[in-house]
Amino acid sequence: MPTATPPPEKADLLVTGGTLVTMDAGHRLIEDGAVAIQGDTIHSVGKRSDLEAQYHARQIIDARGALILPGLINGHAHAAMSLFRGLADDLSLEDWLEKHIFPAEASNVNQEFVACGTRLSLLEMLRAGITTYADMYYFEDVVARATKDAGMRGILGETIVDFRAPDNKTPADALAYTQSYIDKWKGDTLIIPAVAPHAIYTCSEKILLDAAALARRNHVPILIHISEALFEIEGSRKKHALSPVAYLGKIGFLGPDVIGAHCIWVDAADVSMLKHFCVGCVHNPSSNMKLASGVMPVVDFLAAGHPVGLATDGAASNNSQDLFEEMDTAAKLQKIARMDPRALPAVQVVEMATIGGARALHLDKLIGSLEAGKKADLIFVDTTGAHATPMYDVYSQLVYALRASDVKTVIVAGKLVMENHRMLTLDEDKILREAREYQKKLSAWAKLA
Ligand SMILES: [Zn+2]
Repeated sequence: MPTATPPPEKADLLVTGGTLVTMDAGHRLIEDGAVAIQGDTIHSVGKRSDLEAQYHARQIIDARGALILPGLINGHAHAAMSLFRGLADDLSLEDWLEKHIFPAEASNVNQEFVACGTRLSLLEMLRAGITTYADMYYFEDVVARATKDAGMRGILGETIVDFRAPDNKTPADALAYTQSYIDKWKGDTLIIPAVAPHAIYTCSEKILLDAAALARRNHVPILIHISEALFEIEGSRKKHALSPVAYLGKIGFLGPDVIGAHCIWVDAADVSMLKHFCVGCVHNPSSNMKLASGVMPVVDFLAAGHPVGLATDGAASNNSQDLFEEMDTAAKLQKIARMDPRALPAVQVVEMATIGGARALHLDKLIGSLEAGKKADLIFVDTTGAHATPMYDVYSQLVYALRASDVKTVIVAGKLVMENHRMLTLDEDKILREAREYQKKLSAWAKLA
């Protein structure tokens, strides 16, 4: 007797056609592929013909002519700072921070500023195919609300510094705020609250340890800038007779819950210590070049078997939130720094923006690749433009030819956030109008300051 065909399985969403760039362990590319989504999770990935026969879907989206990728992961940002874009450029990190950004923040940053600036960055990031970002700023509860409303995923860290911050007068106030912020958001489906002591040069040892203890009591991640600038290294050597990494290791700060941005001025011992403690390390090439901070030895990290994520940093230090640009820059920066065009191949850079970034954020069980069981965060990248034709190698194309503006559709946790370039969760006109209002206010402030 012939066996009966099983009844079709139910899917909430079936994405069909297009080339799947899975970023799974085998780097499978599936031509004319499909992704079946149930709720917020990928149920199956395969050939279109197979999945069309297997599933009865409530909604079908045709993705022909596009590459379908896991949503990009921006491992380090200060979203609200996009309102400072272009306010103070062509300066060293020290001058930029001390003479411009910290005063601008002290006078201008409040809840409304953070809400407007964050929404501006969310718009820019989603348009560039970023579905998850890690953020460090003030009023992080406001950042979380804006991110949740936009339908985006985030590890969002409340910044703690050793001086009066825009939202909290003292570090003790900041720790209390952070605890209530964590209580509010812990367990959310999109938002992971975090604690973000800014850096070793802006936090005393006590604050670093209090912040880490708070994070560990609550089982949430710790975000920090590590070894970004030469003044930081010199200060650490003078004060502690140790590199910043060795100092953080010695005081018990490092661990698998730490995500460190930059990690530029590191030697072999630092790299192996970061690996030993499973610290997530995130590269910010445009920001590092613009502030002349230095070149992260990405190739050494990868050679040591330690994953590296990719990030935009703040839109005030970059000046964009475009991870396509960061992919291109990351590849070329390693090549020129080592005078070796083979130094960082395109496929490794796409890894840094997807599964490698997920590993650096300790979220690789949830996101970073198109695989059954992972969260349904995916993007469609149009490949029909002149600048994208012809296409011999998808990874080369993604890094060296395709652009953020080629991202046409974005799905986060199974929900459409942008469809055919149209934003569905954000009021684009209002966001841009409000940002222009801030430009007027900040221009007036800068003239007076
Ligand atoms: Zn930063």
